[in-house]
Amino acid sequence: MQLPTFEDVAAAAARIAGHAHRTPVLTSTTADQALGARLFFKCENLQRMGAFKFRGAFNALSCFDAAQRRAGVVAFSSGNHAQAIALAARLLDMPSTIVMPNDAPATKVAATRGYGGRVVFYDRYREDREAIGRRLAEEYGLTLIPPYDHPHVIAGQGTAAMELLEEVGPLDALFVCLGGGGLLSGSALATRALSPGTRIYGVEPEAGDDGQRSFRTGAIVHIETPATIADGAQTQHLGRFTFEIIRRDVDDIFTVSDAALVDAMRFFASRMKMVVEPTGCLGFAAARERGALLAGQRVGVIVSGGNVDLARFAALVGPYRTDGPVDRP
Ligand SMILES: *Cc1c(COP(=O)(O)O)cnc(C)c1O
Repeated sequence: MQLPTFEDVAAAAARIAGHAHRTPVLTSTTADQALGARLFFKCENLQRMGAFKFRGAFNALSCFDAAQRRAGVVAFSSGNHAQAIALAARLLDMPSTIVMPNDAPATKVAATRGYGGRVVFYDRYREDREAIGRRLAEEYGLTLIPPYDHPHVIAGQGTAAMELLEEVGPLDALFVCLGGGGLLSGSALATRALSPGTRIYGVEPEAGDDGQRSFRTGAIVHIETPATIADGAQTQHLGRFTFEIIRRDVDDIFTVSDAALVDAMRFFASRMKMVVEPTGCLGFAAARERGALLAGQRVGVIVSGGNVDLARFAALVGPYRTDGPVDRP
């Protein structure tokens, strides 16, 4: 098993240049004053298709040989990875097939189709999407690109932290949203090379603390799909590549509640005029709870995505009951 390195992140940066947006780094005096620190937000909610996943998808598909390009790519996802693969495939002029549950939100199906993806449905209570993906790959010669545990995906995701550090210089701490660990492990590769002294923290939802438990026990912990509003982090386990890098390069993993995510969504909307999806708030929510740890420091926060439909956004940031999250998928 060959782990990706910083050289792979740098190569990914060259491949995505001119295709992915170089997203802005924003600051907020209000946030700085609240935390007593200097915060730098890397705004991947403003990335193409609305999340950092475009970086990894475009990098992975750019590495296909001619035969792979002709046959195309297959991915299984109902979320941002699906849209990222469909858009990257269209830009690189290759066919894409996305395996989605037949009860996936209509908006996500439409978005994936809008980017040119062919959608294949499955019954998530009776069928195994990985098996379907693999069968399609074998039957039609498609190349399967998983959402996080792939060296080219990890390297692509690392380009966001690379851009952040190039722009603002060394940081004392960096907070990164954590699902399966593609973003966190890629960020760690970039950060260890460009700002070796930075403390790197992964942040996952309280209900799905498998990453924290894996980190602390030294073995990948598997859990049931967690009930959380952070749908981009409803993963059941870290990957083999991502875990090895996280274990080696990350300093700690924190968890935050759904209520803290909603609070961060409200902050982004009201103070920074940004729509950020619940999963995209993980990093900032954790940083806010750790002002003491960060006083006087330069802190990076990766805001990972902004894909949340307006009705759901309104329901979450609107009247919010403190007795529990508005909806639990
Ligand atoms: C996929 C995703 C994550 C989690 O990324 P991993 O690489 O799986 O850890 C976080 N935020 C958003 C918006 C995502 O789409």
